[in-house]
Amino acid sequence: MKDEELRRLTALCARCGTCRTVCTLYPERKAEIAVARGKVAVLDAALTGEDEDARGVQEALTDCLLCGRCERACPNQVLVEEILMKGRADMAEKVGVPAWKTILFQGVMRSPAVKGAARRAAAAGQRLLTPVPTESGLHYRFPAGFGTAGRTVPRLPAKGFLDTLGRGEAVSGEVMLFVGCVFDHVYPQVGRAAYETVKASGKPVAVFRDAPCCGLPAMVSGDRRSAMMCAGENLRRIREAAPRAVVFPCGSCLLMFRRNVFSLFPEGHPLREDASFVAERSVDYASFLLSEGVLDRLPDPPAGEKTGEIGYHDPCHLSGTLGRGPQAREVLSRTVGPAFAEMEGADLCCGYGGTFNAREYPTSARIGERKIALAARGGTKVISTACSGCVLQMRDMAARLDPSLRVVHIAELVFQAISGAGRSPGRR
Ligand code: SF4
Ligand code: SF4
Repeated sequence: MKDEELRRLTALCARCGTCRTVCTLYPERKAEIAVARGKVAVLDAALTGEDEDARGVQEALTDCLLCGRCERACPNQVLVEEILMKGRADMAEKVGVPAWKTILFQGVMRSPAVKGAARRAAAAGQRLLTPVPTESGLHYRFPAGFGTAGRTVPRLPAKGFLDTLGRGEAVSGEVMLFVGCVFDHVYPQVGRAAYETVKASGKPVAVFRDAPCCGLPAMVSGDRRSAMMCAGENLRRIREAAPRAVVFPCGSCLLMFRRNVFSLFPEGHPLREDASFVAERSVDYASFLLSEGVLDRLPDPPAGEKTGEIGYHDPCHLSGTLGRGPQAREVLSRTVGPAFAEMEGADLCCGYGGTFNAREYPTSARIGERKIALAARGGTKVISTACSGCVLQMRDMAARLDPSLRVVHIAELVFQAISGAGRSPGRR
């Protein structure tokens, strides 16, 4: 029974409070309910029937960035992320999932054609917003009074990355590229950079067309059914294609297939074997480039130029949960040489948190602005990273705070080095 499994997980919490000392949200909320210990206590009370306010419990569990800092610091190895996601799903079963979310997850994000149509419609609507030129490309600012507290959004492209591929191009190959919704529809230049640089391995590359969303946004919203539909469809199609490796430019999509699918499809589920097959072959972008020797073919990086101006932001899921920070740093140092230097606050969460950003934008923006300001004060001029949510958040923060700061995906830097293009990465 699900509740018993949750109780087994929450029972490991010794209430020591270590999680409070590292929690991204605690300095904002200054309340016990913000930290893992408080959330575990609230959930325990709900599981034992002491607290019957399912909506209140849902609210407490949802007010979290799922950055995983508490889980990594916990001396008892409490699986905080798993507890929060299972708890959200349990509470959603009691109070329901809002209809608009189900439509978004099942009707839009599951269908590549509808995602494309939604992007085109949103692009047309952007003309009503105020343009903000930034070093990372044009942004638009929402008008004041929309409850968006100065939010900016990137200019949406007329074509997604997959639209730019030829009909017979990248349809089959032993390496599969899982581009993800954001690097297809919002930043197609990142999708292109990832594709070209993965192709530089010399291996035949198939770009996964018709991919539904990975399912993570639905999962963190407690909408287990939609998450299983999205993730399950991906698992079946990848298994059918039987690639040797699946490469992910986005750390959050990778986390979904390396770890979260096992929670959605436990032992005994018909898709469990497919989940294991895909997880074993799923690899982050930087590790793939290193293992295939792509960087061995790069020209020497320019010595001494712009020393220390390029930093790396650790995506919580990729560097923290999956431990892939060193690989990204190695790719960067070998690509840009001494221009790479550790950035102030590199491992601090950017404040995005997926659905947290949509629900709690002012808080998300305060956390993000602090991160950006710290990096800029330390002399970083270009922030590179490897997760779609972090790129979205930090480009928004740069547009709000310091439009001269550039935010790029590491693939853009590698592509620039490979192609020898003089164009600055991140510009459109
Ligand atoms: S650090 Fe771990 S054991 Fe300690 S209170 Fe937080 S979740 Fe519980
Ligand atoms: S996941 Fe992050 S924001 Fe959520 S409780 Fe843990 S440290 Fe705090």
